Amino acid sequence: MKKLFLIIGAPGSGKTTDASLIAEKHPEHLVHYSTGDMLRAEVASGSELGTEIESYISRGALVPLNIIVDTIVSAINHAPVPNVLIDGYPRSVEQMEAFDAIVAEEDGIDLASVIEVRVSEAVARERILGRAAEAAPGEGRSDDNEEVFNDRMKVYTDPLEAIQNFYTDKNLLHVIDGARTLEEVVADMDAFVLSKI
Ligand code: ADP
Repeated sequence: MKKLFLIIGAPGSGKTTDASLIAEKHPEHLVHYSTGDMLRAEVASGSELGTEIESYISRGALVPLNIIVDTIVSAINHAPVPNVLIDGYPRSVEQMEAFDAIVAEEDGIDLASVIEVRVSEAVARERILGRAAEAAPGEGRSDDNEEVFNDRMKVYTDPLEAIQNFYTDKNLLHVIDGARTLEEVVADMDAFVLSKI
């Protein structure tokens, strides 16, 4: 049985950094996968699938449902430890419903919580555009620029309320204030996750 924590948050919320630091602290209990990192790894492999994925990422659009569902289900099934943090999922009502059906069908996955790392749009924008400005030439992400940021933010915000309501009704939503220092956010999320495993 795998115990699963889904972590959602706007681009720039820090969700990937927070989750990876927590998993690093408890390698014997917890593993972390970032949907964005897994998709970028596929792009970097140079595969045909990677080329298709890059065409979505570079414009801030969501990759198709079957690709992202296969990616996360395979990550969960191959996880070497019983507790799994996945950030960047779900990002649409369609993804949320698809995953809900999978959890209902499979005995092997227990959804422990959906953690929302909440920041204002202004904080998110400042962090992402700051990250883009600091990246060495050729080293930055293809989607860290103002125009694509606006699209990513809209893609994040549009289904957010429906996602919040769905998990609130199931008593699974846990909101964390992501506008504080990294240490504070990580300490908070760490304590919450440990309380559930
Ligand atoms: P951010 O959340 O900061 O935008 P991520 O690294 O989490 O960055 O995601 C980057 C891109 O990867 C997204 O804009 C999207 O194209 C793709 N992606 C990530 N997660 C998903 C998902 N759950 N469904 C579809 N596409 C995704």
